[in-house]
Amino acid sequence: TIGMLALDTHGNLAGACTTSGMAYKLHGRIGDSPIIGAGLYIDNEVGGATATGVGEEVVRNVGSFLVVELMRQGYPPEEACKEAVMRIIKKKKDSTKDLQVGFLALNKNGKYGAYAIQKGFTFAVCDSQKQDLTIKGKSYY
Ligand code: ASP
Repeated sequence: TIGMLALDTHGNLAGACTTSGMAYKLHGRIGDSPIIGAGLYIDNEVGGATATGVGEEVVRNVGSFLVVELMRQGYPPEEACKEAVMRIIKKKKDSTKDLQVGFLALNKNGKYGAYAIQKGFTFAVCDSQKQDLTIKGKSYY
């Protein structure tokens, strides 16, 4: 998945995501990306979030909506992403060794963060100060 979150100079948030889905997916499978609240969610009062990885786990946890709701409660973006990841890990117990799910979040104040189960999840930031800065997201493993 490629997920994008944006905040304009008027404080308006926007987001988009696109995916080819999972390898070897069943015909007709619908992943998380086209489902609002799962692969992408924006609330212009709070922030936005997008997800990548195994869409079934993101859908089960309404992941991007969860991240935005956690930010509404006061979680900083990275902490909100981490909490959403931890809920998936808690439900999957010991079967997360090969499972990847990652979230990216941006809040209304322009703060951003990401968290994934597996390492290697990177994201890019572009604003008037930071042109194309690539950041390694934190991860559980
Ligand atoms: N989240 C996507 C899906 O499950 C896969 C991806 O991250 O590209 O369809």
